[in-house]
Amino acid sequence: RAALEFTGVSKVFDTGTTALSGVDLSVAPGEFVAVVGPSGCGKSTLLRLASGLDRVTDGTLEVAADTTSFVFQDPTLLPWRSALGNVALVGQLRGVGKKERTARAADALALVGLTDFAKSFPRQLSGGMRMRVSLARALVADPQLALFDEPFGALDEITRLGMQTELQRLFQLRGFAGLFITHSVSEAVYLSTRVVVMTGRPGRIAADIAVPFAHPRS
Ligand code: ADP
Ligand code: ADP
Repeated sequence: RAALEFTGVSKVFDTGTTALSGVDLSVAPGEFVAVVGPSGCGKSTLLRLASGLDRVTDGTLEVAADTTSFVFQDPTLLPWRSALGNVALVGQLRGVGKKERTARAADALALVGLTDFAKSFPRQLSGGMRMRVSLARALVADPQLALFDEPFGALDEITRLGMQTELQRLFQLRGFAGLFITHSVSEAVYLSTRVVVMTGRPGRIAADIAVPFAHPRS
């Protein structure tokens, strides 16, 4: 069964803009799908629908995964909470007991190499480190489906290369299904198992290409 399945999906906003038209897209468990295309072609709309932040106008959308997490370009961390506190908040909101959510948050921070910075506050961390905290927060609940809206778009190139390697490793380790937007074709090919190319006016899928030399997934 697909982790995520769009069938004939259209999205028309109140303004009359048709952001998506007749989109068919299926993401199988263990697949990591990159979405590329020019600004305004409907990439964010596609992701917002997948995340449940917005509703389809027409067609059907099925999300088999019961846990979905979303990583934005600008990691919105709570400034008054430590790195550990930010990651543990996910468990707190789900009613997980303090001891367990703290232990899980510590594990997630270890996964992204931030054990030594667990007690640091966001302002004390670099942009790359904040992005790592955001990744730890996204993965702490062990999502079956992870959505990324240009996660590394705001990072400098060296940090971005490090984070791409990091995400690649996490993806192989955890095996979640993923859908991510990127403006970088090389990032799409490096990280994904499939690249979906969109065009605009109205937004639709123009090509759906398997990456021939994708890294093997567990
Ligand atoms: P992309 O992420 O590829 O840049 P978007 O999904 O943000 O594209 O936007 C697709 C189209 O839908 C654009 O024409 C955009 O202006 C329009 N759009 C996006 N969100 C809204 C909204 N909330 N209300 C009206 N129009 C929107
Ligand atoms: P990007 O191109 O990086 O995806 P956008 O500027 O298209 O970013 O969109 C940023 C936010 O503004 C999104 O949440 C989108 O839904 C919203 N948005 C985009 N276009 C419009 C619009 N024409 N009217 C209302 N909201 C919009």
